[in-house]
Amino acid sequence: MNASPFEPKPRLAISACLTGLSVRYNAGHKASALCLELLQEHFDWVPLCPEVAIGLGTPREPIRLVGDPEHPVVTGTRNGATDLAGPLRAYGEQMADELDDICGYIFMQKSPSCGLE
Ligand code: SF4
Repeated sequence: MNASPFEPKPRLAISACLTGLSVRYNAGHKASALCLELLQEHFDWVPLCPEVAIGLGTPREPIRLVGDPEHPVVTGTRNGATDLAGPLRAYGEQMADELDDICGYIFMQKSPSCGLE
C-alpha cells in the first residue's frame, strides 16, 4: 500500500550513513537499498551520526570499544590515548530526550557508536 501524499509520514531515526550520507570514518556511506527503495516511501528519515555530531571529522580514524562491555572505553584504532565514551554517551542521552516524536530507529549494525552490541 502506498503512503498518502496528504498524511504526514511517521518519523524514523536512522544511522545517517544508511541513507547515503558520506559520514563514515572513510568518508563513505553504507546506503541501504532496503531503506532507500522500500521504506523511504513510508517514513520521514531523521538521519543521525553520533561520531560527526560529537565533532569527529570525515574522514577520521576509526574507533572501537575496548574493556568492560558494560562500561567500554571508546578509542581510536591507532591512537588509544583518547576516550570518547563520555561525549558519545552524552549525545545519546541528549538524543533520547529530544527525539520524542519518532516511531523507531534503524541502527547500523556492528558500529561502535550506532550498533546495539
Ligand atoms: S557513527 Fe553511525 S551514522 Fe555515523 S558513520 Fe558510524 S554507523 Fe554511520
